[in-house]
Amino acid sequence: MKVLVSDPLAKEGIEILKKSGLEVDEKTGLSPEELVKTIPDYDGIIVRSATKVTKDVIEAAKNLKVIGRAGVGLDNVDRDTAKAKNIKVVNTPAATSISVAELALGMMFSAARRLPQADASTKAGKWEKKKFKGFELFGKTLGIIGIGRIGTELARRAKAMGMRVLAYDPYVKTSDNAEVVDLDRLFTESDYISLHIPKTSETTHILNKEAFDKMKEGVVIVNCARGGVVDEDALYDAISSGKVRIAAMDVYESEPAKEHKLFALEQVIVTPHIGAQTAEGQTRAGIQIAELVRDALK
Ligand code: NAD
Repeated sequence: MKVLVSDPLAKEGIEILKKSGLEVDEKTGLSPEELVKTIPDYDGIIVRSATKVTKDVIEAAKNLKVIGRAGVGLDNVDRDTAKAKNIKVVNTPAATSISVAELALGMMFSAARRLPQADASTKAGKWEKKKFKGFELFGKTLGIIGIGRIGTELARRAKAMGMRVLAYDPYVKTSDNAEVVDLDRLFTESDYISLHIPKTSETTHILNKEAFDKMKEGVVIVNCARGGVVDEDALYDAISSGKVRIAAMDVYESEPAKEHKLFALEQVIVTPHIGAQTAEGQTRAGIQIAELVRDALK
């Protein structure tokens, strides 16, 4: 049986597929038309986020039994068409949870000590010791919105820093790592608020003007979840008024975000959606997806 790997995959994953006797072709960068022409030969396909497994691709497939997505979101796979054709869709939602949690923690340290701003200032030849008086994370309250896989990993790490951890999650009653509270209490008591929720109709703009109004003066906001869970215009206003001291963002309402009005603010720390981009996370995702695709085909 043949597997097409159409986005770069960790070599450990390729090895697993080959060792199990599957024929593996790595063909990255195929255009949508090329993919439609290529897919009929294959029993399985593995993608990351670049390849779009559209209705056209799935309908052109003759032998396809499994679609593997190395990573979390399945926005690039037409699951309805796959289901209609009885094609299994598998992904690796937990492979990069630690990577994202560590980025969120890094964002919190960056905000507390304004590391990116201090780095830029020092390299510019200024020596602004007084300007860069920061804060400790120790003893502060972190409010986590969404205490799932990533939220839990962050809570564990924040506790190790000596932080008090609150969490809001309507689908979780208790947590070993956080005190589960209602959203208003999280807003009013948190020094740091980090989002770890999917984007749904319920969570879109969960941080809006009313939410910012309830927060502590000088709160730090971290968004490594999905663009759109924070109302970016309301965030801009909350930073401008001083309510939000620092906002750190890995994700945006519109991506790629090459220009953004928030980028003009010194109080904003940004990264280009790199939460899952670690060597370990990608290796784990490659291994896990190869095992799932192998098991589905064998
Ligand atoms: P998860 O499903 O394990 O956890 C999400 C949690 O959110 C669940 O516990 C769920 O009950 C909770 N939730 C759902 N609706 C809610 C609501 N209205 N209010 C509060 N909580 C709610 O998911 P995860 O793996 O922890 O991922 C969390 C988010 O991180 C997802 O949006 C994911 O897309 C994102 N993510 C980002 C990156 C990145 O590169 N920055 C990488 C991976 C995942």
